[in-house]
Amino acid sequence: GFKCGIVGLPNVGKSTLFNALTQTAAAQAANYPFCTIEPNVGEVAVPDPRLDDLAKIAASKEIIPTRLTFVDIAGLVRGASKGEGLGNQFLANIREVDAIAHVVRCFTDGDVTHVEGKVDPKADIETIETELMLADLDSLEKRLFALEKKAKGADKEAKEMLDLVQRALPLLREGKPARLVSRKPEEEKLFQTLGLMTAKPVLYVCNVDEADADKGNAYSEAVIAQAKTEGARAVVVSAKIESEIAVMPLDDQADFLEAVGLAEPGLNRVIRAGYELLGLITYFTVGPKEARAWTIEKGTRAPAAAGVIHTDFEKGFIRAETIAFADYTALKGESGAKEAGKFRLEGKEYVVQDGDVLHFRFAN
Ligand code: GDP
Repeated sequence: GFKCGIVGLPNVGKSTLFNALTQTAAAQAANYPFCTIEPNVGEVAVPDPRLDDLAKIAASKEIIPTRLTFVDIAGLVRGASKGEGLGNQFLANIREVDAIAHVVRCFTDGDVTHVEGKVDPKADIETIETELMLADLDSLEKRLFALEKKAKGADKEAKEMLDLVQRALPLLREGKPARLVSRKPEEEKLFQTLGLMTAKPVLYVCNVDEADADKGNAYSEAVIAQAKTEGARAVVVSAKIESEIAVMPLDDQADFLEAVGLAEPGLNRVIRAGYELLGLITYFTVGPKEARAWTIEKGTRAPAAAGVIHTDFEKGFIRAETIAFADYTALKGESGAKEAGKFRLEGKEYVVQDGDVLHFRFAN
């Protein structure tokens, strides 16, 4: 599955946020078992009101949301790239995730020590980014010699790789992230194999004081402005509030949310933003037994989308019976959609769209 790593300096609220995420998932797990893979790895349900709409129309017995994996990656401190703190372990963990949720301290609480002495989100972001860039620089420099040697021969891939590395190195040396490396779409796959941390998409999670949970504060404003200049995303949450909501009975949640001025738990926004950051979309399978959401990458064709359910569906793919979400809901289900001519039979080349309600025909 797809993984989003939670990083940030010590004491910014990473664990509080991670625990809230996993406790919420556990509380909502009536329909499917919540699973903690390792102490710092958890799967959470992706909140999607569309799934409830579909289940209502089809009178589905069960609702099964799709899931996203979060990894709490502790140990990033100044000097991590040189082996400080959990150094290498940290770096190994972060290489394995697909995107980064970077928690930034935007709360002031004097009882909680700030490792750098004062609350300064922009400086904190720079500290983390610098460590990641230094680590990327180090890993590329270590590979350079062997790669140059290989590229002298007939190894075409080594030549292309070297070319990418030589584009990344000057950027990193200037203190710029590897995501700024200009590259052609056909080079993307090879570029990803370099495993550069500063090439991964970033979501800033501004952890604000309880009183600022609804509107944010000057610190979170600064982070949002910073995110804009990088083309990154930012969300505002109060991890402390989220940790309270997570363990609250559902009946009490609505009142509590209203009291703190929130339309929904902030975690929903974190999960959805993480999902979008990863370039993921959702399709649905709907019937009387269950209404279920499935995750695919944008641009996935019908057979590969079917393969997410079962490899047999992909191997024996014939057609995808397809109804767009808007049609399914407006026309009150499959028969209404059929009568209105909104039921389509799509073939192997069809690119599945977000919200599609699908039923796969396949041969064994
Ligand atoms: P980590 O080191 O980044 O994982 O940080 P923790 O989640 O362990 O949090 C460090 C301390 O900050 C704990 O004492 C938390 O209770 C506190 N903390 C986390 N989030 C908030 C917040 O939104 N407001 C306040 N006042 N304290 C927080």
